[in-house]
Amino acid sequence: MVVREVRAKSILNASKIYDFCVNPYTGCGVACRYCYAALFIPRYSGHSEPWGTFVDVKVNAPELLARQIPRAKPGQIWIASVCDPYQPAEERFGLTRACLEILRESGRRITIQTKSARILRDFDLIRSIPKVNVTISITTDDEKTASLFEPRASSPAERIEALARFHEAGVHTSAFIGPIIPGDHARLVGLLAGKVDDVLVDRLNYVPQVRAFAERHGFGHALTDAYFLERRRVIAAALKSAGIPARIVF
Ligand code: SF4
Repeated sequence: MVVREVRAKSILNASKIYDFCVNPYTGCGVACRYCYAALFIPRYSGHSEPWGTFVDVKVNAPELLARQIPRAKPGQIWIASVCDPYQPAEERFGLTRACLEILRESGRRITIQTKSARILRDFDLIRSIPKVNVTISITTDDEKTASLFEPRASSPAERIEALARFHEAGVHTSAFIGPIIPGDHARLVGLLAGKVDDVLVDRLNYVPQVRAFAERHGFGHALTDAYFLERRRVIAAALKSAGIPARIVF
């Protein structure tokens, strides 16, 4: 892994989905095969290493955030919008944790989104944030398929367990079923029942390199609009029967 310590110019940035986003890391050691960030980050970060093998660590992120927060207009903050805030580098650098300590004092609504059960390290801190949502992305119930497409993410079972812990503690929890990769999604919804407040669902966009990877590993059947429409129907029915509020965005 190529790890570069950098100083960012800004850490609290405008976002189209929430009001602001905070990304302590550029690049991601989780190395998902379908990662859309892999399409643009190497271009502007100047890295030529393969996706998943480099990360720029914004070592001044907490200090910058503490300066930017008081000057920012009101609004909700999303950590992180691009690269996973609980990727492996977080164990060594603790930037997400340091940023969350600052965000807790801001009184703003915070959404934390990750694919890692590493978020449990900060369980006590996160549950002490007055307005917080924990969103965990889970793309399939199938451990083997998940480890193929998301080699260094936590297993689906570990992610569901993390959601359960936060939900039991009274933290607002969401699952992002997306991007959908093959598996038994009705079963996945069943496993999420009682552990999440809501669910967001999105399909996978097959850019050419993702298509090639999926075909190489025998997932050609899951490359069509028809497949996603069928998955949409299965997931919507399962969510309805489990009584989980949901938004399906494709
Ligand atoms: S965890 Fe997110 S940012 Fe990291 S490689 Fe996977 S999709 Fe990309």
